[in-house]
Amino acid sequence: MKVPFVDLKAQYAAMKEEIHASIMEVVENTAFVGGKYVDQFEKDFAEFCGCKYAVGMSSGTSALQLALLGLGVKPGDEVITAANTFIATTEAITHAGCSISLVDADAGNFNIDPALIEAAITERTKVLIPVHLYGQTADMDAVMEIAKKHNLLVLEDAAQAQGAEYKGKMAGSLGDAASFSFYPAKNLGAYGDAGIVVTNDEAVADRVRLFSNHGRRSATDHSVEGFNERLDGIQAAVLSTKLPRLQKWNDLRREAADRYNTLLSGLDVVTPGEMSYAKHIYHLYVIRIRERDKVRETMAEKGVGCGMHYPIPIHLLDAYKRLGKSAGSYPVTEKVASEILSLPIFPEITPEQQEYVAQSLAEVLEKVG
Ligand SMILES: *Cc1c(COP(=O)(O)O)cnc(C)c1O
Repeated sequence: MKVPFVDLKAQYAAMKEEIHASIMEVVENTAFVGGKYVDQFEKDFAEFCGCKYAVGMSSGTSALQLALLGLGVKPGDEVITAANTFIATTEAITHAGCSISLVDADAGNFNIDPALIEAAITERTKVLIPVHLYGQTADMDAVMEIAKKHNLLVLEDAAQAQGAEYKGKMAGSLGDAASFSFYPAKNLGAYGDAGIVVTNDEAVADRVRLFSNHGRRSATDHSVEGFNERLDGIQAAVLSTKLPRLQKWNDLRREAADRYNTLLSGLDVVTPGEMSYAKHIYHLYVIRIRERDKVRETMAEKGVGCGMHYPIPIHLLDAYKRLGKSAGSYPVTEKVASEILSLPIFPEITPEQQEYVAQSLAEVLEKVG
């Protein structure tokens, strides 16, 4: 048996006709950039998140960068985020003209540890970016309380959390603004790169839209220098077609996670926890395991695709030597980085595939001793 890390073909096969029809409709209408399909998806996704405004973007990375600009950051402002995130979060901070300040993770949920945020705040700090890693939100009440106390804004990096909940509220509706990615392998994936910013603040939404479209509100009134980071019509139409199924896909991921929890219960691994505040949507099912690199290699030999999210913490990447943070700076992040292994998970994964993953893992653990 072979179990891929993700299987995008299964979902495509199940909705082929609808996807083709939605793409062809955009083509027939030549509504390639902006237009009614983008407007419709923005409306649908804002409603899905329980937010008033949504602005489509060309990627999750541009959504982060333009959300920061929309929140009003100025060159030299500091932005605090988690040391264990994807580089897109910190790239966006730099490209918005700000400096990066990192905080260690909580060992229980791999998200930013709110107890460590205050020590990182300086008079230049402007925004906090909690990353809802793996599909589970950060502890947002704690984050928002700190933000309020220090007069900071909060941008949720919800790239991995479309449909996740915190105390019954949707990810994306918890901070001052949020960014999502629709990279094809995310829980809601486009057929190319795409992203979105959501917010309840009309002025923020207006600025984000302005920056995404060459700094103009009409055809020629460029009031600032902006960017070209607009969402395209084909991606919007595909996303509108898929959005009504997202909750069901997330529920299937949750069932698959439950099944793994049971199948792996006798093994010497730490399975992921769901916090009491959370509805985890398992964008990734991440275990902690000894001899991770050897395990991953041997799993690949058995036909099981596993991932690592992320094996090198931000401060130890070559790209961030300038931060001057040596090993030991963020101990929780560094420890888990060497132990985490992402097992195959996608809505269509079968119980037989999961049994094969668990059985393979048991054999591999025996072998590595
Ligand atoms: C995927 C991802 C992004 C970037 O999204 P793109 O659409 O690939 O640009 C940002 N942050 C996190 C946490 C992600 O997982």
